[in-house]
Amino acid sequence: MDFYCVDGCSKCCIEREYYPSIKFGKIGVLILPSEMEKIDLLARRHSISVTILPRVGISRKPDRPEKILAYQLMGRESNGNTCPFLDTESDERSPHGGHKCKIYQDRPLACRAYPLIDSLPPTLDPKCKFCEKCSTADGNINSEIESLSLIQGEMNAGGRYIWRYATGIGEPSHKKQVETGWFLA
Ligand code: SF4
Ligand code: SF4
Repeated sequence: MDFYCVDGCSKCCIEREYYPSIKFGKIGVLILPSEMEKIDLLARRHSISVTILPRVGISRKPDRPEKILAYQLMGRESNGNTCPFLDTESDERSPHGGHKCKIYQDRPLACRAYPLIDSLPPTLDPKCKFCEKCSTADGNINSEIESLSLIQGEMNAGGRYIWRYATGIGEPSHKKQVETGWFLA
């Protein structure tokens, strides 16, 4: 079955998840180092304030990350939800009727790859609204596969130790469990 976006849905631009656990806080949209300058420029062009935190680092020794492989664009709400580039104020809509992305033509690779989370075999994120309805899709996902492989290529740096950054952001009820800073994955 072909993948399509559910009418009126903006779930993936709004809802942010704890990953890999509550301790690490809610994550943002993955931004590759090669995309940082573009995102910064787009934010300034649209007069949007953005918070970008580290996401994944690598090192040869287990003491501290030496190189950052990916950053993350945090949501604009205090609980970590809602991408700052999502237009929730105007009446403009995306082609499938959801809220419009203000930078759609220039959106990050992670947004172009979603809801694909693995390509061998192609696997869609069960939290995507389409998957909630139809479980999975095997068609109309070529551009998502291409974007995911670009991300995987850039993140395949082969460090011995992998680090994850805990964002410190989450729901008020989880404040005591959420941490901030680097942890070995
Ligand atoms: S990718 Fe999935 S969650 Fe995102 S807008 Fe489309 S249907 Fe909704
Ligand atoms: S950059 Fe655009 S497509 Fe990506 S999460 Fe934000 S609003 Fe959605």
